[in-house]
Amino acid sequence: MSHEENLKKQYESAKIEISYLKRKISRMEKRLLRQEKIDDMNRHQSRWAMQQLEQARTLAEQASQAKTDFLANMSHEIRTPLNIVLGMGELLDGTNLKDSQRQYLQSLRLSGEHLLKLINDILEFSRIESGSVSIITNPFNVKELLIGVEDMGAHLALEKGIEFSLEYDTSVEFNRLGDSRKIRQILLNLVDNAVKYTDSGRVCLSVKGLHYDDEGKISFTVADTGVGIPDDKQALIFERFTQIEQGGLQSKGGVGLGLAISKRLVMAMGGQIQIDSEVEKGSTFVVELSLPFAEQGPLPYKDGRGVSNVNQGLPPLRLLVVDDIYLNFEVIRNYLKDLPVTMSYAENGREAQKAFLDDTYDLVLMDLRMPVMGGIEAVSHIRKLENNLGLESTPIIAMTAQAFVEQEKTYLQSGFN
Ligand code: ADP
Repeated sequence: MSHEENLKKQYESAKIEISYLKRKISRMEKRLLRQEKIDDMNRHQSRWAMQQLEQARTLAEQASQAKTDFLANMSHEIRTPLNIVLGMGELLDGTNLKDSQRQYLQSLRLSGEHLLKLINDILEFSRIESGSVSIITNPFNVKELLIGVEDMGAHLALEKGIEFSLEYDTSVEFNRLGDSRKIRQILLNLVDNAVKYTDSGRVCLSVKGLHYDDEGKISFTVADTGVGIPDDKQALIFERFTQIEQGGLQSKGGVGLGLAISKRLVMAMGGQIQIDSEVEKGSTFVVELSLPFAEQGPLPYKDGRGVSNVNQGLPPLRLLVVDDIYLNFEVIRNYLKDLPVTMSYAENGREAQKAFLDDTYDLVLMDLRMPVMGGIEAVSHIRKLENNLGLESTPIIAMTAQAFVEQEKTYLQSGFN
């Protein structure tokens, strides 16, 4: 083959190669284009899915908020008249009654208190479930807290004719940081149960420091010599709405939420709760928490103007009660009737504001939800007025069935004491 022919052949095969490569490139371009379209679609789809997810989340949050609001409103609506029923019952108890009347009244009061506890438990549990319970850490003194719980426990035990004791290891460092209210609530519930399910013997509340770490681990124990809980039921009692029939005894009061609430509160504080129990011998509940050491104890309570000994020839205290429900005023007036107090009444925030222009008061008890003007608005007007006129600030106490810790913070910020 001549040189020219050789070159021509090479040229032909290069042409074929080029056209093959061109086709390949064009196929790849098409595939790339298709891929881009798919990517685009995927991006679009995932953006759409994200939007749907976001919408669903917002809806769920709104639903949960609506449920919490509904429960808060309901509880307020139920607790308000119930508190009047209970208050009136207590006042009636202080009057001259026949024995049979006193017994009827006692039943009324017990049922009322039971109902109030149920409402509070259900409300609290649903708040915990919706995640709206926060742990509020403050310095507190463990010994003082236990003495408060002992007061209630000893009183309940005395009524049942059983013994109650408080034991503490004196080497425990008592100044700690933690949510003392929740710890108190848990211990009160355990003590209340221990007394409820013990017909003879004793209930003992004790505390021990666990020294094996620096986190300030501490354990609280509530032990009783009561009916006990069978092994196979011990895990169940921490479930919601669980009550156990023990030795023919049906659960005494409650709806089976106390321990469910306690367990969730303990867990929210990063601790644990355990039970050890034997039928007819008794039960021991142990709560372990890490409560860091506090440098100082609880801050001293600021008591405003320090109004103390009302009986030492001082002029009567001037008290203003602001509440749209007149019956509440009646209950308070009856409670205080033997004390040197003069009482005025205003039926809403606007009336209270007017009363403040005309008169001065030593103390105001103010409802929060009132028609025309609610408590928060009224307090802010009153505080402004005091500021403008250079008056001393009057202690104003919120009087409400909406008394969660988180709400309390809002009230304090808005000018309530
Ligand atoms: P309740 O409000 O019904 O007492 P809890 O959640 O506090 O609900 O308790 C759940 C159940 O656990 C009770 O109904 C009772 O059967 C049982 N229980 C709780 N504490 C004790 C105890 N100290 N001794 C025996 N049984 C107990």
